[in-house]
Amino acid sequence: MSRELIDLAIERLREDFPSKSRSWVRRALVRFMKNTVKEFGENVWVVRGLPELGDKYPTYVVRLRDGRYYCSCFESNWGLRRRSEICTHIAAVILYRNYKRLDSDVYVSVVNIECVDYYLEIPSELRSKVRVVKSVRVVDSSDRLNPRHRVTYVVYSSEPMEIKARLICDGDVRELSLKLTRTRRYIIELLTH
Ligand SMILES: [Zn+2]
Repeated sequence: MSRELIDLAIERLREDFPSKSRSWVRRALVRFMKNTVKEFGENVWVVRGLPELGDKYPTYVVRLRDGRYYCSCFESNWGLRRRSEICTHIAAVILYRNYKRLDSDVYVSVVNIECVDYYLEIPSELRSKVRVVKSVRVVDSSDRLNPRHRVTYVVYSSEPMEIKARLICDGDVRELSLKLTRTRRYIIELLTH
């Protein structure tokens, strides 16, 4: 496992559950690092119990249904208290999924520009296959109404392809040919966060 990916996976978990305590995150991380999460089927995971974290059972089953996670520990004696919470079995599954996603392959092209006004246009027929995220930073705000930006466009898809795009920068229009090449998903996170 890579330290950098683990850090990013934790960051995403914290963003999704900002009110959760440090100890909740730590317990989820212990479960994840001890490799206790196994994918069992579509939207079903088995989490090995850890007695040192208070688990009474050797395994717990986490399911994702209609966008909500359910854990078999909800059905235990503590079920009534736990039902409204997100247990750390679920948190470990979310960490596992975050990590897997960050570690997965994606096909990317990066465009860097510096302009006041900017726009990147992708052919409309590709919009279901190709996604664009951008990160924008002001580099010159001496003209307060028209600050100059440094823009990084990250164009990506789940498959390799070569696409035509149109880049508009301060009225200047350029036709680009972008070759989307393979990288890992976390590179996109690093470029845009
Ligand atoms: Zn649980």
